[in-house]
Amino acid sequence: MSAAPRPDGAGLPVRLGEEPWTATELAQVRAELADEAEGLRAEIAKTAYDIAEALAAVRDAGDDEADAGTKAFERERELALTQNAQDLLDQGERALGRINAGTYGVCESCGQPIGKARLLAFPRATLCVACKQRQERR
Ligand SMILES: [Zn+2]
Repeated sequence: MSAAPRPDGAGLPVRLGEEPWTATELAQVRAELADEAEGLRAEIAKTAYDIAEALAAVRDAGDDEADAGTKAFERERELALTQNAQDLLDQGERALGRINAGTYGVCESCGQPIGKARLLAFPRATLCVACKQRQERR
């Protein structure tokens, strides 16, 4: 048996005591990430469109100040949501790239396997549980 990464997931790292990745599990994670990326891209495009519409409406309507303030707040919130969606999309695309590169499941901080169980639950995870907890405590 070769240790080189294989597209069916057999070469991906797992934690001690975990079964190796199966092609089915990897396909499931890949499909989940791809679905999510598609949804996020649609969400980002829609928010960008909404913001453009809102800006056009404000220009056209000549709103009074209170109304304009509310609208500015809403736009800010939408921008924050877009940023969040963009971050998730970046993470998801990085995970997909790592699956293709055969490095999926390696903790970005300590280099240990993240664990298959964790990745099946959180396909975008880039840190093992220990590193994640350390990061959250900071
Ligand atoms: Zn780690």
